[in-house]
Amino acid sequence: MFAIRLSPVLLAGLLAAFFARAEDAPFAAKAEHVVLVVWDGMRPDFIRADTTPVLHALATRGTFFGNNHSVYITSTEVNGTAIATGCYPGRTGILANVEFRPDIHPFHPVATEHPQSCRRGDEVRAGKYVRVPTLAEIVQRAGHRTAIAGTKPVALLHDRGLDRAASHGSTVLFAGKSNPPAALAPITAALGKFPSYPDVETLSPNTAQNAWTARALTEQLWRDGVPKFSTLWLGDPDFSQHLTMPGSPTALAAMADSDAALGTVLTALRAKGVLEKTNIFIVSDHGFSTVDWAVDLSGALKKAGFTTVRAYTKEPQPGEILQVALGGSTAFYIPGRDPELVKKLVAFLQATNYAGPIFTRTALPGTFAMQAARIDSPDSPDVLLSFRWQDEKNANGVPGLLAAEGRRNNYGTHASLSRYDIHNTLVAAGPDIRAGFRDTLPTANVDVAPTILHRLGIPGADQMDGRILREALAGVEVAAPQPETKTLEVSTPTAVGTWRQYLKITTLGDHTYLDEGNSGPVPK
Ligand SMILES: [Zn+2]
Repeated sequence: MFAIRLSPVLLAGLLAAFFARAEDAPFAAKAEHVVLVVWDGMRPDFIRADTTPVLHALATRGTFFGNNHSVYITSTEVNGTAIATGCYPGRTGILANVEFRPDIHPFHPVATEHPQSCRRGDEVRAGKYVRVPTLAEIVQRAGHRTAIAGTKPVALLHDRGLDRAASHGSTVLFAGKSNPPAALAPITAALGKFPSYPDVETLSPNTAQNAWTARALTEQLWRDGVPKFSTLWLGDPDFSQHLTMPGSPTALAAMADSDAALGTVLTALRAKGVLEKTNIFIVSDHGFSTVDWAVDLSGALKKAGFTTVRAYTKEPQPGEILQVALGGSTAFYIPGRDPELVKKLVAFLQATNYAGPIFTRTALPGTFAMQAARIDSPDSPDVLLSFRWQDEKNANGVPGLLAAEGRRNNYGTHASLSRYDIHNTLVAAGPDIRAGFRDTLPTANVDVAPTILHRLGIPGADQMDGRILREALAGVEVAAPQPETKTLEVSTPTAVGTWRQYLKITTLGDHTYLDEGNSGPVPK
C-alpha cells in the first residue's frame, strides 16, 4: 500500500488515525442521510452484472468489501442484532435465533425476534433484552427520526422500544406489523394489507412481501422526507435459498427481486433530491450453504443412551438435555449444567463424523471456550455444535456443503462456521464512501454500525466492538495495519481416534475476525 514510502513517524501517525475514535477525528461528512439495505442471506459471489445489476453497479461505483464477515452463530437474529449494535453476540445477548431463556419462558425455547420475547425480555431485564443500544436508538437519542422496515420480524430488534414519546416520530415496520401500532393504518390504506406468501409448493420467491415493505418505506415512511437513518430488511434471497438451495432458479429470481427493491430505494432518493446526500450500505446478515448430509442427531443421541427433548413440559429433570436445532449449528442446554453429562455429550459428538467445532462453557479438552467465538454470555448453552462442512459444489455448481439436523438433503441453510456461511455481502456507496474501491482488509457486520454513526457525526462508535471502516471513507488518508491470520487448534483422544478442530482468525490491530472453523486437520 501507499504506506511503504512514508517515514516511520508519519506512518505511526497514520496508523493512529486508522484506529482513532470518531470523536477525535477531524471530519466533515457530506451526507445527511444513511440508508442500510439488508439482503437476507446474500452471498457475495452472486453479485454480478447479470444477476444483480443495481447492486453490481453500486459495488463498482462505490466500495466493495471483499472480505466481510458475518458473526457466529451465522443466523438472522444474531447478525441482525450485531449489525444494529456494532457488538458481538456475547455483548448484545442475542446468541441464536432460538434460545432457552427460562426467565422469558420456563420450559420452551423462544424465538429471539418474536415480539413477545422482546417485550418479556425487556420486562425481566430492565429494558436490556438487547444489552447495548441499537443504531436506531442512538440516532433517536441524538434528536433524529429513524425509519426501519423489514419483511421479517428481525427488524423489531433494531428498534423495539414501546415508549415512542422521544422517538421523534420514528417507526419500525416488521413483517407487516408496526411500532407504534397506529403507524400501520395509513400504510395499509395506501398499499393494502401486508400480502401473504402464495404457497411453498409454487417454489417462488417472497416477491410480494418484499415489494410491499420496500414501498412502505419509500412511499409512506419517507412521505414527509427521508430521515437521518433508515433500514430496509429484505427477506430474500434467504427465504428462497432455504426453500430450494443456493444458485437455484428460485434463488436467482429472489436476488432479482431484492435488486429491484434496491432500485426502488435509489429511485425514491433521487426523486426526493437526496441521492447525492445519502450514504447507502448494502449488507447481508450471513452467507449460505447447501445441506448434503441430513443428520438424525436426536435419534443418534437416543441410541447412545441420552435423553433429549426439544422443549420441556415441566421443570427440567436431571439428565434431560434440551436440544435446539439452529440450521448449521445445534445448541444443548443441560439441567444444572451437570459437568459429567456435558463431558459425556462432548465425547459422543467428538466420535461422530458430522460434528464440526464444539464449544463449551468450560473449554473441555478438544473444544473451544464460548469466548473464542465471542458468544460467552450468562445465557450461553452448555454445549454448542457447529456442523462439519466442505468446499464441494451443490447441483447448481455453488460451493459450500454442510451437514445439519434434518430429514432431507439438498436444501439451503446456514448458521455454521463454514466459510460460506461466514463470508457475506457488504457494499457501500455515497458521497463519503471511496469510489471504485475494493477493500481487501477484513471487515465484519459489527463494523457497519460504528461506520454509520461516524458518517452521521453522532458519538457512540467507540462504545462498539466493531471498527470504523476508515480505509473505505472518501478523503480520509490512513495507512492500514497489516492483517495477520492464525489458526487455533485443539485436539483430544477419543474412542475412534484423535478429535481435532480449528478456528481460523484474522487480526487487524486489536480487532479480530473469525474466518472459519471446522473439524479435522487445519487445511493448507
Ligand atoms: Zn438471515
